[in-house]
Amino acid sequence: MQLSNRIALITGGGRGIGRAIALAFAREGADVVVAARTTEQVERVAEEIGNEARIRALALVCDVSDRSSVEKMFDDARAGLGRGPDILVNNAGIAESATFLRTDDELWHRLLAVNLSGTFYCTRAALPAMLDRSWGRIINVASIAGKTGAPYIAAYAASKHGVLGLTRSLALEVASKGITANAICPGYVDTDMTTLGIEKITMKTGRPAEEALAAIKKMSPQNRLVTSEEVAAVALLLASEEGRGINGQAINVDGGTVLF
Ligand code: NDP
Repeated sequence: MQLSNRIALITGGGRGIGRAIALAFAREGADVVVAARTTEQVERVAEEIGNEARIRALALVCDVSDRSSVEKMFDDARAGLGRGPDILVNNAGIAESATFLRTDDELWHRLLAVNLSGTFYCTRAALPAMLDRSWGRIINVASIAGKTGAPYIAAYAASKHGVLGLTRSLALEVASKGITANAICPGYVDTDMTTLGIEKITMKTGRPAEEALAAIKKMSPQNRLVTSEEVAAVALLLASEEGRGINGQAINVDGGTVLF
């Protein structure tokens, strides 16, 4: 049990990558807070964890782009589990594409608010308790779009590049305090986010869904989508005691699509 006596808070834990991370951490003995906006999804995951791993699992509703909602989530987490999280996984995120000139203010601000400000608000709320205990893990689920660009995703890529800047600076600030901060940069993962993206491509271009999926798979030298479980395995390493030497890194899980 690599995470026994740890409390982990995972944003966007109701489905996809966040759900896989919550389940993986619970299997290793962590008490888990699962947070997102959709009540039924977070409750279902918490129930699944409670039944399977028989550890404490708390479902909380939170919009990470709203500072007061984040502060309430941390208050509720502390009230529910006795103290703040030792491990924070900033995984909540949204993706949307548009040509640069069709990227209006609303889209730009929404993507930055959830993906970047959400990561900032949650990290700022989690850090004091980690500093008090001289132990903590901040794990930010970014993207290979945090390292490189692609057409039509300026807002998404900007938000994820921002997450890497935040991660690297924070990592150096807390390095001597028993805390690490790292990012995971997945390529395309087999989740609702990718399925929705494919639906949008099909709607916009009339391209059949199978063809769009094949094109997405082909972006990886492994010609496949990554699974949520593969991302969760890296998160588990970063959260573990053995992972304490890994700090300020942005680890790609993309089959070799991006080599830096
Ligand atoms: P999903 O859409 O399947 O899940 C996203 C999760 O984030 C959901 O639980 C969603 O719940 C939650 N979420 C979204 N907006 C908010 C918000 N404002 N406040 C709180 N929770 C929110 O996506 P994935 O699992 O695929 O993505 C997880 C992370 O991985 C994201 O940061 C994404 O950018 C990143 N990523 C994904 C890739 C992919 O190919 N799928 C590739 C690279 C990175 P709800 O809507 O109920 O709030």
